[in-house]
Amino acid sequence: MTATPCIICVAITGSLPTKDNNPAVPISIEEQVESTHEAFEAGATIAHCHVRDDEGRPTSDPERFGRLKEGIETHCPGMIVQLSTGGRSGAGRERGGMLPLAPDMASLSVGSNNFPTRVYENPPDLVDWLAGEMAKYDIKPEIEAFDLSHILKAHQMWQAGQIKDRPYVQFVMGVKNAMPADREVFDYYVHTVKRLFGADAPWCAAGIGPNQIVLNDWAIGAGGHARTGLEDNVRLDRDRLAPSNAALVKRAVALCEKYQRPVATWRQARQILGLRPVAA
Ligand SMILES: [Zn+2]
Repeated sequence: MTATPCIICVAITGSLPTKDNNPAVPISIEEQVESTHEAFEAGATIAHCHVRDDEGRPTSDPERFGRLKEGIETHCPGMIVQLSTGGRSGAGRERGGMLPLAPDMASLSVGSNNFPTRVYENPPDLVDWLAGEMAKYDIKPEIEAFDLSHILKAHQMWQAGQIKDRPYVQFVMGVKNAMPADREVFDYYVHTVKRLFGADAPWCAAGIGPNQIVLNDWAIGAGGHARTGLEDNVRLDRDRLAPSNAALVKRAVALCEKYQRPVATWRQARQILGLRPVAA
């Protein structure tokens, strides 16, 4: 039996890291496209994207998202573009203002939880609206599971027809004040995904800060897919900053070798996720 290829997602920028944290964090669109291209060459096949304004602050500006999407599609043909609708870049429906760009994927949070210094608010009416927009533009959501209840909520939304295909869930662990990186909880998340969505349902995991490599190891070892990148973690280890997004992708590739998992090509990644074979 051949092991399932592992999809590596690179979260290139996020809303929080700055050049002061690590000069390799790509902020301008040009830097983002270049950093994504290096990560793509290193083995990443999903680019999870946020955009920043001229002062480096997070924004939901659809025009910027459009330029980034176009840059990635031009320079990384086949790569899956996933735009963030996360709550640090805007409020209310602003968060989904870029969805008419019809990217391959978008992140979707389906419930609320605490973040390091505030509440991450995802009220039911906004969740329904975001899911509706994604369905309208044929965008595959990636469910950001900060809690077990988010996996069950995704299941309800699928049953209700709000999510078209079986949900692709990403477990997020290690955000301060949210779910820590706990192996037994992780195993139960995997169990729950398999129970609700089928034994062969693809899933993914992300760890924040030093937990990034821990979650990469757990997910790749357990047959899931992996997210890395400077959004979640700017360091290689305690003493060294990560020199690039590509360097973090290479760490995930090394774990695929450890667990004898091939790294998914973009064609394989699109097939596993049920996406259109090439970007429209
Ligand atoms: Zn993000």
